[in-house]
Amino acid sequence: MPEAEALQGPQTLIGIIGTGSMGAGIAQVAALAGHAVRLFDAQPGAVQAALQRIGNELAHGVQRGRLEPAQRAAVLDRLQPVDSIAGIEGCGLVIEAVAERLEVKQALFRQLEQLLPAHTVLATNTSSISVTAVAQGLQHRGRVVGWHFFNPATRMRLVEVVRGLDTDHAVADAISQLSRAWGKTPVDAPNTPGFIVNRVARPYYGESLRLLAEQLAPAPVIDRLLREAGGFPMGPFELIDLVGVDINLAVSESIFAATQFDTRYAPHLLQQELVRAGRLGRKSGRGFYDYQLDAATPLAAPVEPAPLLPALRASAQPGLLGPLVERLRAGGLVVVADGSLPAESLAIDEVTVALTDGRTATQRGEGQPLLLLDLARDFASTRVLGATASAGHHDRLPTLAVALRPAGIELLALDDVAGLGVMRVAACLVNEAADLCTWTGTLPADIDIAMVLGAGHPQGPMAWGELLGAPRVIKVLEHLQAHYGDSRYRRSPRLWRMVAPHS
Ligand code: NAD
Repeated sequence: MPEAEALQGPQTLIGIIGTGSMGAGIAQVAALAGHAVRLFDAQPGAVQAALQRIGNELAHGVQRGRLEPAQRAAVLDRLQPVDSIAGIEGCGLVIEAVAERLEVKQALFRQLEQLLPAHTVLATNTSSISVTAVAQGLQHRGRVVGWHFFNPATRMRLVEVVRGLDTDHAVADAISQLSRAWGKTPVDAPNTPGFIVNRVARPYYGESLRLLAEQLAPAPVIDRLLREAGGFPMGPFELIDLVGVDINLAVSESIFAATQFDTRYAPHLLQQELVRAGRLGRKSGRGFYDYQLDAATPLAAPVEPAPLLPALRASAQPGLLGPLVERLRAGGLVVVADGSLPAESLAIDEVTVALTDGRTATQRGEGQPLLLLDLARDFASTRVLGATASAGHHDRLPTLAVALRPAGIELLALDDVAGLGVMRVAACLVNEAADLCTWTGTLPADIDIAMVLGAGHPQGPMAWGELLGAPRVIKVLEHLQAHYGDSRYRRSPRLWRMVAPHS
């Protein structure tokens, strides 16, 4: 059994194999925490290039006053290049960040097993391969653990600690403790496709791509909606363009394959087409957006408000729309409380305005004019809302826009697509997280931490679930499944328990 407790403290000598983007970042973090670090890469010159990058980054830290020059020198002193894998001998912990290919990682770990005593901990930074598979065939599998850093490893606080079937609990615990000592926040992630972050983030991309394909709105409008009404730091398409359309597609494809081709994770044709056309995002100058110098600025223009303010009424039970009603009143509008209106709705010149429940406005309106609002993460502060209208009534949106204007809210026109944007994405995120808990026992709190720190979400899916309430999430998903007949919207068995406080 590995001496996991030996990992504590900077006296542990760390080995890094593979010194590309991730390996170099992890080496820097370890050396900053006081460890001596040996670095090996199969590619000649790769270690020197990594040391150069680390040196530059630390110099930047000195310039910004985050580091003393003497500290920089001490950190660089602790980084020891080795030119053969045998140089890794004597390390108490070896972290691999080599190519993301199972056979490469397995071969490396077999080599390490020959070189290192049985108590040396072997960590893999794989982002998608089963830790059990990496350890397959080794004699001492208990010491193999997944330690998934995020890019850039120096700045991202989250690490996912992943136990394979044979991983010793003490080893995983020691890695979690070491993560904290290195200033990271560890979460226990299941050894299932995508671990936590890459798995729970799937609906953000998958639903957005479907919404784009169904013409909810053009990409810049969907991006603006999710950013400004949803509170996400980047819209899905600008994010995919930043990460790389091909990289994001590769993650989708790997999770799709690893889930036995569960159609919920099916990669979208739109994205495959972009990759086929070489539109890989920012790095190729074109993806969902055009980044060439002469490209037009993408437009996400709001609805032009009507000239006249309408008469407004609000349900006596405004629910999630309560803060919006307050804002309308604070903006100087007279909003009459009307007990005859259904809960969570308004009336604008006799036209009902309700929050989407996953049905289209046309279906829900049953022949009457109906406007549907998309969800906002915070109706008390959002400066943008999305809305749609039942068939033939899109000309009512300017009247809604003029009513929202005094409250400082711009209206984005959406097509009548079931569930709209923020609501649909949020409900699917909650469901995905609930499923991860259901089938892997992952702790809800770990999922929220992971999605906030690892994906930059404004709040974790459990917090979205508490905002929306379980019955609403279930209802939205039921409506989506009925509308599309698609099992991707099947409700997670744990949904009810997951969104209850203290579950
Ligand atoms: P990279 O291509 O930048 O670096 C990989 C390095 O490993 C290269 O320098 C290569 O020469 C070296 N290498 C390959 N095979 C080797 C071997 N057998 N022995 C020694 N060195 C070898 O890749 P990266 O982006 O740093 O990713 C490395 C690992 O980290 C992968 O498993 C990847 O999935 C994972 N990861 C990547 C990210 C990311 O955003 N880039 C995030 C988290 C995890």
